[in-house]
Amino acid sequence: LKIALFNDNRLGVVADGRVYDLTGFVPWDSHRPQESLENFMGQYAELAPQIEARRESCPSHPLHEVKLRAPVPKPGKILAAPVNYLNHQSEMNAQFNNAPFTIEKLGLFLKAPSSIIGPGETVYLPSKERRYDYEAELAFVIGKKAKNVPPEKAGEYIFGYFALMDMTLRGGEDRSWRKSFDTCTPIGPWIVTGDEIPDPNALQIRLWVNDELKQDANVRDTIWNCCTCLAKASEIMTLYPGDIITTGTPEGIGPITKGDRVRIHVESIGEFSVNVDFAEEQG
Ligand code: MN
Repeated sequence: LKIALFNDNRLGVVADGRVYDLTGFVPWDSHRPQESLENFMGQYAELAPQIEARRESCPSHPLHEVKLRAPVPKPGKILAAPVNYLNHQSEMNAQFNNAPFTIEKLGLFLKAPSSIIGPGETVYLPSKERRYDYEAELAFVIGKKAKNVPPEKAGEYIFGYFALMDMTLRGGEDRSWRKSFDTCTPIGPWIVTGDEIPDPNALQIRLWVNDELKQDANVRDTIWNCCTCLAKASEIMTLYPGDIITTGTPEGIGPITKGDRVRIHVESIGEFSVNVDFAEEQG
């Protein structure tokens, strides 16, 4: 299923160009969307057949008439993959000479959960003086508590997949600092549950700036695929329902500035756009 949060954080399922409102049909508190999502994921196995059978009886809206929200609004943590594609390592070395290592030496890093925004929102760049880049990534949300999970079992712990932009301040600071400013983590357009994605490690990722295609690559070229990222993370820390892991960006990165519109598309998931502005001009 495609699980969306929309309007005032109502729960919906997306099908046939419409959003079916599940808010009155399954346990859901719109004022606590993250907690509600975590509970929903825990009950998903029982709820999914009922949702499929009775979706048509729920109130619904055309997709274009709702405001989609970040599908994982407030995760406990966001773990992110650095230098997880060799072609991206090469371009970083060509432009900045700053990528001597890949994920195999670096491990994963943390992004602030407070940096999340949803589809159609605006990325506010904190200063006019620095360079900021887009990074298109495949991300997923943890569905159940995971510790010391082997890669071949990782899929059982992934609830679903979505697209993520890891907006990045370039420079010498630590990654967590440069990739945690408010609004720097747009996610969406919804969560596609794992049962609809037979092979997450073969999805095509594309990103456009102002309708110009900038990134066009496949998750199969990751050094650590989705399962390895989850397995390695779970060796170090317990992963909880609602945590996010994002799998890194392929080649084609480049700068963004005020006035840009950035669009991401992930195969079998969907697409969304965000706008870019300077924070100091924010109202
Ligand atoms: Mn990234």
